[in-house]
Amino acid sequence: MNHYDALVVGGGQAGLPMALRAGRHGRVALIEREVLGGTCLNRGCIPTKTMIASAKVAQQVRRASEYGVRAEAPSVDLGAVVDRKNAVVSPIREGAYRDVGSSAQVDLFEGEGRFVAWRRFRVGDNEIEASRIFLKAGNRTAIPAIDGLDTVPYLTSRSLLDLRELPGHLLVIGGGYVGCDFAQMFCRFGSRVTVVQRAGRLVPGEEPELSAVVLEAFAAEGIDVLTGTTCTAATAAGDIIRITCEGAESTEREGTHLLIATGRIPKSDTLELDQLDVAVDDDGYVVVDDHLRTGAEDVWALGDLRGGPQFTHTARDDAYIIHRNVYQDQDRSTAGRVVPHAVFVDPEVASVGLTEQQARDAGHDLSIGVQEFAGVVRARAIGETRGLIKFVVDSDTDRILGCHIAGPHAGELIHEPVVAMVAGASYTDIRRAIHIHPTLSEGINAAAGGVHRETGT
Ligand SMILES: Cc1cc2nc3c(=O)[nH]c(=O)nc-3n(C[C@H](O)[C@H](O)[C@H](O)COP(=O)(O)OP(=O)(O)OC[C@H]3O[C@@H](n4cnc5c(N)ncnc54)[C@H](O)[C@@H]3O)c2cc1C
Repeated sequence: MNHYDALVVGGGQAGLPMALRAGRHGRVALIEREVLGGTCLNRGCIPTKTMIASAKVAQQVRRASEYGVRAEAPSVDLGAVVDRKNAVVSPIREGAYRDVGSSAQVDLFEGEGRFVAWRRFRVGDNEIEASRIFLKAGNRTAIPAIDGLDTVPYLTSRSLLDLRELPGHLLVIGGGYVGCDFAQMFCRFGSRVTVVQRAGRLVPGEEPELSAVVLEAFAAEGIDVLTGTTCTAATAAGDIIRITCEGAESTEREGTHLLIATGRIPKSDTLELDQLDVAVDDDGYVVVDDHLRTGAEDVWALGDLRGGPQFTHTARDDAYIIHRNVYQDQDRSTAGRVVPHAVFVDPEVASVGLTEQQARDAGHDLSIGVQEFAGVVRARAIGETRGLIKFVVDSDTDRILGCHIAGPHAGELIHEPVVAMVAGASYTDIRRAIHIHPTLSEGINAAAGGVHRETGT
């Protein structure tokens, strides 16, 4: 039996910083069943954005003549795209191993582990007990109930990242952020793409205006999108996969490859958490309070394993909160956290805070400011005019309740409203701040000015 001050289960984006920080205060056992870096580094954020960058280059070449540049139609070597992705990811992963290796207090146990008795964790031949336990096993692709799916060689976001030959026709089940990222990426690589989306619109968690921008962009690039449509059956014959879909009417599509991107489920079922008296909700998420404490003494859950926002930046913030509370006697919490997110389609989508509907449902009197990118000079100069910026503002206090952007570099632009919201600044502060001309950020300034015009002040 090995006794440690802390046990960290999972070496991803929440577990790594948690283990390294806890290692400043005592001995830590860090458990990882695959490779350090978790989903984000190895099969999520970084690989997808690296490959999206290749797809963007192909698209820019296609659009070259719009800019007065002569270029031949691009052809994409998917194997080389995957090699480039691996070349970006590998050194970052090696850095993670170096960080852990150079921490004298952190012992890395490689293997899939689980609790085998009250607070006792087994990984391989090792049994570990620890005074404090930090759970962060992440999540995995949810496989939907589709008739015949088990007989079809389907792909997930994980396996598609290593495909080296371009699909002739990629069928994508799911129009959330994972499905949309891959749909546009592979369309730009040169595949035909069909997206089947059960909800009434793509990226359904976003403002409807933002979904409409994404749909318009997808249609312009030739992506076949079926919304309000559920894939109910799949069959394979030779190289062809056929799916049956039910929507306003029944329809079928044939393709060469099938991607399942219908959501993610937590890996709580792999840990035998009943040995800890840790509660999980009906969807399998570990139940935590706003200090990320589970019901069990000295057991915390972080990242995708607990309910709530599932992003790398929130997973890292979870580790920060717990470290401050546990080791520095502070009182940090997730309550009131301002959490932005982005979808890395083109045009990008980024949001923070309440949507207009959520704000109305919460009883706010609202003022709305909108600026189309077509009216932003820099967007015209770079030829990326699709999209808009929308501010949702409380009319009584002028406080920004939310900001929603679809447009060029939305994932960068959103940070000005994020900082304003964290600082409690009003939309008039943004409007008053001089913005450099000509920049895309002028659109933020103009959208805040749009609120101003609506309120007539
Ligand atoms: C395709 C895709 C794209 C994404 N893009 C973005 C993005 O652009 N921006 C963003 O913010 N988020 C993105 N995400 C989400 C992001 O990757 C996750 O929110 C983040 O990785 C969560 O970190 P985590 O530490 O909770 O989980 P993970 O990073 O998944 O880490 C959990 C670790 O625990 C290990 N583990 C699990 N069970 C056990 C066990 N029993 N024993 C030992 N080890 C175990 C796993 O191997 C894994 O390494 C994306 C996700 C996907 C799938």
